[in-house]
Amino acid sequence: MSASDDLRIVGVLGGMSSESTVSYYRQIDRGVNDALGGHGAANLLIRSVNFGDVERFIRTDEWTAAGDYLAEAAGELEAGGADFVVMATNTMHRVAPAIERAISIPFVHIVDVTADAIEAADVETVGLLGTQATMEGSFYRDRLANRGIEVVVPDRADREAVDTIIFDELTNGIVRDASRERYLEVIDDVVAAGAEGIVLGCTEIELLVEQDDRPAVPMFDTTALHVERAVAHGLGETDVALEDH
Ligand code: GLU
Repeated sequence: MSASDDLRIVGVLGGMSSESTVSYYRQIDRGVNDALGGHGAANLLIRSVNFGDVERFIRTDEWTAAGDYLAEAAGELEAGGADFVVMATNTMHRVAPAIERAISIPFVHIVDVTADAIEAADVETVGLLGTQATMEGSFYRDRLANRGIEVVVPDRADREAVDTIIFDELTNGIVRDASRERYLEVIDDVVAAGAEGIVLGCTEIELLVEQDDRPAVPMFDTTALHVERAVAHGLGETDVALEDH
């Protein structure tokens, strides 16, 4: 029997930005290869959308249009044979309900996967770093609150700085030491405000900040956690349908 018979096809809804989609691709592929050995690799489809449109939808608060756009792209993953979908962005999970309505394959929600890790680490209050839409909207905070996890966000000026660094630098593949220092200051401030751990709630932040930068504060890297779940589901180790839909 070939190993591929057991592999599920991972559907990655990506392009938001391509920087993080590349990380998803490499890390999912590596995770599957670690398990299979040899030249074993993930069965994977990527549907990369136009980030220019997505960024405009965010700026203009056009969430219905964003939901329609991403629902259609997710439908294309399903039509292409994907067994489940991971969407490689935190922000656009704001329109996850529209996507879930449009497909009949499981959608692996990034906040649920992150909440599992926070719970496993026995952390009750987290600082959330991400885009302004993620930090200021209720979709992320409420979903964590439903799991009994409290969220602390940076103050307004810091939220703007964190957002600007994501859109002007990280999503364009620009990684600057000064921006890392700025993020670490923000992390120190939210820890001082009561956060026991930090959610790196934007899929590009892992390009800038890593656990070793603040060893004493547990960091929940949403890209790594989402990828880990995608690998487990892709390998057929987990019951994706029951767990995530
Ligand atoms: N990838 C980012 C996130 O995880 C930001 C880009 C976007 O708005 O999708 O939120």
